Amino acid sequence: MDARLPPELEDFRNEVRTFLNQRLPHDIRDRWQETPNVLFANRDDTVRWQKILHERGWSVPTWPVEWGGPGWDVMQRYVFEIETALASAPPPPNAGPRMIGPVLMQYGTPAQKARFLPRIASADDYWCQGYSEPGSGSDLAALSLKAELQGDEYVLNGSKIWTTLAHEADFMFALTRTDNSGRKQEGITFLLLDMKSPGLTVRPLPYISGVHEFNQVFFDDVRTPVSMRIGKDGQGWEIAKYLLEFERGGNFLSGRIRAGLDRAKRAAKWSGVWDDADFRRRYADLEVRAETVAWTEMKILDRATKGGRPGANSSYIKLLGAEMNKDATELAMEAVGYFGHWGRASGGENIGPGGPMDASPMNASDRYFNHRANSIMGGTNEIQHDVIAKQMLRL
Ligand SMILES: Cc1cc2nc3c(=O)[nH]c(=O)nc-3n(C[C@H](O)[C@H](O)[C@H](O)COP(=O)(O)OP(=O)(O)OC[C@H]3O[C@@H](n4cnc5c(N)ncnc54)[C@H](O)[C@@H]3O)c2cc1C
Repeated sequence: MDARLPPELEDFRNEVRTFLNQRLPHDIRDRWQETPNVLFANRDDTVRWQKILHERGWSVPTWPVEWGGPGWDVMQRYVFEIETALASAPPPPNAGPRMIGPVLMQYGTPAQKARFLPRIASADDYWCQGYSEPGSGSDLAALSLKAELQGDEYVLNGSKIWTTLAHEADFMFALTRTDNSGRKQEGITFLLLDMKSPGLTVRPLPYISGVHEFNQVFFDDVRTPVSMRIGKDGQGWEIAKYLLEFERGGNFLSGRIRAGLDRAKRAAKWSGVWDDADFRRRYADLEVRAETVAWTEMKILDRATKGGRPGANSSYIKLLGAEMNKDATELAMEAVGYFGHWGRASGGENIGPGGPMDASPMNASDRYFNHRANSIMGGTNEIQHDVIAKQMLRL
């Protein structure tokens, strides 16, 4: 793979930059720059921005043209990711375009594809992921949300936890237990659920910073028709693993990591910490690691373009990205010093931070705290090490 930027790609980069300059609403950009959220802007901003992208045919960059993708090659996709991140555009919703989308394309019936894919591309439907349960996270196959087939409906009882954006989602894709008789991986079925279904309750679980991104979801005789099942009864584990490759490898973090590093650098120059050689050495170390993430992502993109699956590379990228995000927010915290606590110290009121906004010192501590979650969400670091050992190193 040759990942050097060919000159003609500069034209594409300029096209993207011009589009972002003209079409990214400033209020959305400003809110995203200042949010301490780990993953997403609020739903209104995300949807508004996705619809602007959709008008341009750019809302689902990794999808095939048949389903609304732009038909970009690997480098175009990559340039797009970097440029949107550097322009502080909010990231796309994960659960729809990057998780259930590829699954529907691979395992969905024609009717399911026709119903859901266009509405994911246009951001008319918002999705959430129902995998984890109070008793099953890393050991996902131990899940116990019971789904009992009654006529042409499944009836669900139990709970899901850490469900990101369940409070804003229209639909959930969920792993359910339909059979307990064999190996735990065997009796799992992949179901789609309308979040407005009677018997479904969403309760918030605020982060340490107070930000509300995830929830616990309770199911009390919640019904979903058999037509909302993906694949066959009991095929859920195979589908779940397929989806996880896209969840862990489909995020293309390096643009956002680069934006985070730029923020730390601006803050360090503003506070004077930049004059410290040890700080600059650690910053340079992170820059080198950011390059490693970038190259690994290009490798995954290249493989995906040739019709391959992300494979265990996705665990590698997830691991590198998680550590990078944690280290970059730590460095930013150090750079802004006590100004990092301003959002809290001011009681969340809209008072100037006492430093240039360009340095974004506001919420540095909330960002720092929230980004500790990077090495847990989407599968912990230990689990990624395990996947890499087994599938890449074949230990
Ligand atoms: C911000 C955030 C958002 C999330 N969003 C979602 C979501 O939208 N949908 C969803 O379904 N889930 C979501 N999750 C849940 C996430 O997938 C789980 O937290 C994760 O898989 C870990 O599971 P657990 O919390 O049960 O920890 P456990 O599995 O109990 O792990 C506890 C500790 O034990 C270690 N450990 C466990 N098993 C092993 C092993 N075999 N070898 C070595 N070490 C091991 C882990 O690495 C960890 O350090 C989210 C989590 C976070 C933090």
